[in-house]
Amino acid sequence: MGGRQTVTTLCKMCDHGCGLEVMVRDGRPEALKGSTAHPFNRGWLCAKGRAALDLFYSPNRLSSPLIRKGNKLVPSGWEEAFTFIAEKLFWLQDKYGPQTLAIYHGEGVGHQEIKYYMKRFANVYRTPNFCGVGSLCNAARTMGETLTFGNLTKPDIPNSSFLIIWGGNPYVSHEPYPPSDLAKFKKRGGKLVVVDPRKTETASKADIYLPIKPGQDENLVLNILHVIFCEGLWDKTFTQKWVPDFERFYQAVIEERFSPEKGAALTGISSDVVRQVAILYAKSKSAGIFTGNGLEHHNHGVNTTRLLAILKAVSGNLDIPGGDIFTPRPALKDITSPLPEPSAAPIGSAKYALFCQARREAHALSLPAAIIKEKPYPIKGMIIAGGNPSLEWPQSSLTREALQRLEFLLVIDIVRSPECRYADVVLPACTFLERDEHRVNVYQNLPHITLRRKVVDHPVHGLPDQMIWFKLAQHMGFGEFFPWKSCEEGIDYLLSESGITLQDLIANGGVHQYAERTFRKYEHNGFNTPSGKIEIYPQKLKDLGLDFSPIREEILKRRDEYDDFPLMLITGGNLLSYTHWQYRYIPKLHKMYPDPIFEIHPDTARLYKLSNNEIAEVNTSYGRIKLKSLITTRIQPGAIHVPQGWEEANVNELTGQEGFDPISGFPNLKSVRCNIRKL
Ligand code: SF4
Repeated sequence: MGGRQTVTTLCKMCDHGCGLEVMVRDGRPEALKGSTAHPFNRGWLCAKGRAALDLFYSPNRLSSPLIRKGNKLVPSGWEEAFTFIAEKLFWLQDKYGPQTLAIYHGEGVGHQEIKYYMKRFANVYRTPNFCGVGSLCNAARTMGETLTFGNLTKPDIPNSSFLIIWGGNPYVSHEPYPPSDLAKFKKRGGKLVVVDPRKTETASKADIYLPIKPGQDENLVLNILHVIFCEGLWDKTFTQKWVPDFERFYQAVIEERFSPEKGAALTGISSDVVRQVAILYAKSKSAGIFTGNGLEHHNHGVNTTRLLAILKAVSGNLDIPGGDIFTPRPALKDITSPLPEPSAAPIGSAKYALFCQARREAHALSLPAAIIKEKPYPIKGMIIAGGNPSLEWPQSSLTREALQRLEFLLVIDIVRSPECRYADVVLPACTFLERDEHRVNVYQNLPHITLRRKVVDHPVHGLPDQMIWFKLAQHMGFGEFFPWKSCEEGIDYLLSESGITLQDLIANGGVHQYAERTFRKYEHNGFNTPSGKIEIYPQKLKDLGLDFSPIREEILKRRDEYDDFPLMLITGGNLLSYTHWQYRYIPKLHKMYPDPIFEIHPDTARLYKLSNNEIAEVNTSYGRIKLKSLITTRIQPGAIHVPQGWEEANVNELTGQEGFDPISGFPNLKSVRCNIRKL
């Protein structure tokens, strides 16, 4: 690319693909801004997006493959690296069987195109152990809604009059929402309610803020439903036609024990406020509920999302303008279906069958135990692309032990990630500014296929992830399944059933709307559940021997008398400048949050005689870390918050591999008993 030009592409500093315009001079990107033509961000970019060129020019980028020789990772050529990896993968296959290889993708590669090629590679290799960050992000919400009404919804915020944001912080999170859109929502009279144990950036903008006690979400949803039922405010026409078990559920919820007055002691929310929110929500013409990871990182996150799904349905807000809507996916070529049959059952499928069936993948968080105990069979090799299990997965000591026991580990990343410590080979991926890739925007309620376009002719360092998988497959003799010579060829193949080509997409400025937005789609085909209706008591759960009632008796028990661990630990709230572990090496972003801290309320700090900015130890039954205190009223008394992604104060030293959600296998990261110790 000579001279000056502007390339329209998509940001990938997180996985949400905001439109970007990159100004390039003589083949060098010089500046960027948000694309005003992109239907989601319309010109807005967050701090990470604005720092994308700092990633491109980062001196931390890997410039060549690395192969372990003794204690050192030594630079090598690509040919040598691919040959070495292919030999190792065949050796593993011969010695232990193909199921011995686990292939994990993190958010670094995203949830779409690259992940599809990785799963295809796993299928051709014949391992069932493809898995990813879906084992601890978003999938529990998807499962809860899919069990109830067959698919995932997202709120139609531009048309809502009432919005509840529950356990999410879209002002700074990796499921972002342009702040100007939320400002517009409020300007036209929309009411914003935020439910969160922390007064986050989003909560501080709320009309009504509900500082719920960590892990009490099921009780609060039931209290809201109790009010709606007792006041007769549910949508009777909808429930009569679409909710066969409504009467049974209704009778259970109107019991006095689910009243907001009874619930207040558990949730920490006064009954008046719960009544006010329930009535406002039910009486709004259109109301949406935006949910975040805060809901699913508990022992029973799927159940919470089932209850919220029921609330969305019985209030008549499902798939209406301004409500919670379904956005259909485009017709793309499915390259992830088994080609040869997988050789064994995926790891974790005995315990989390529904997760593995629904996702068609292994349960990643079951891998450490499987690697260490060699049960149900040995896992001896692993490929980690764009992910950081040693920091992201609960109980890091176990993950580290597992990674150390592997006989072969390949890491694919842009920079030397913490996982490289355990790697036998490291392959450098290029940045998103150096590769082409399609992206579908259903999570943003947009029936659009968009295009990430490379802004330079050739990667400065590394290869596009897609090309790494194509070349590795070709080195292994799998070329017939990976015939593509470029990312463009791959995209054209993926688009071949969509009615457009890559050239059409380029001609459309990288944005193609594949469907009109429609509402109440269930009136034509019913819901995508086995019964075609809303399933409050899903037969699918019953068949698997799981508790199928969304009302769990245990939720009514108080849980706050623990002598050794009197505080509640919330982990992993997002910091605007980072995506999980990523970007701490970019000075501009690191400056925004330079140190690991824990948030503690002034009342709690006083009890422990702790001052601001003082190093203290946070401990749980799993481990202990040291970090600085930040005394703030953002957090409620009795709870503390530790962000994730810090190598020097890794919060997952404090979380455990026990008590996973029985349906999704999600870990409890947000209601962990803990204590602190002044040093
Ligand atoms: S939210 Fe920020 S990091 Fe994520 S895609 Fe948009 S601009 Fe990039």
